[in-house]
Amino acid sequence: MMQDRTALIAAARAMSARGLAQGTSGNLSCRTEQGILITPSAIPYDQLTPEMLPLIKLDGDYGAYDGDYRPSSEWRFHLDIYLARPQTGAVVHHHAPYCTALSMARREIPACHYMIARFGGAPVYCAPYALFGTAELSAHVLRALKERTACLMANHGAIATGRTIEAALAAAAELETLAQQYLLSLAAGGPVLLTDAQVAAALRQFSEVYGPNIKKI
Ligand code: 13P
Ligand code: ZN
Repeated sequence: MMQDRTALIAAARAMSARGLAQGTSGNLSCRTEQGILITPSAIPYDQLTPEMLPLIKLDGDYGAYDGDYRPSSEWRFHLDIYLARPQTGAVVHHHAPYCTALSMARREIPACHYMIARFGGAPVYCAPYALFGTAELSAHVLRALKERTACLMANHGAIATGRTIEAALAAAAELETLAQQYLLSLAAGGPVLLTDAQVAAALRQFSEVYGPNIKKI
């Protein structure tokens, strides 16, 4: 549990250091055996200490938490994602510039690069606008994440998920890079999109060919 707390704080600081979060925007969470650890609302990431992270119980009253600090205002979509998706171990939300610029234009990210397969396929959807921190926003997010591991939120920012907090942060950074590349390609006349078959082939390639082959000793 202490390891989970320090890992979550390290990821929050890394999110700021990489320019994915400005000030106290964004929030991060991870699943632990005791419940959901989440960043507290509106506390600068460099001021966080392990005991400041609220713990939201998965089996208690909806939204009940342990800790002295109020959970992120976005605790609903974090909690709802864990409740709906047993494979998700961590959730990262940011207002990084390129994802947010696309979300302001209410544009999804199409099959403009094979890396779209990292997020489960094309497109990466943009959830409709709803006020931050609401159940309505959470419902939109769950729909936008159907068969995907990331989404944009209209006039707001992005969400990426992963099995671990490190994986979710890496995905959040990859999504921002993809958004940047897509925006640049729009300025160059617009991308030629990959076909559904090409995206399906990239999905297969990631699962069968990509990554280190760690042999058991
Ligand atoms: P919190 O500081 O409450 O997590 O809010 C930041 C945010 O990005 C809301 O969408
Ligand atoms: Zn936000």
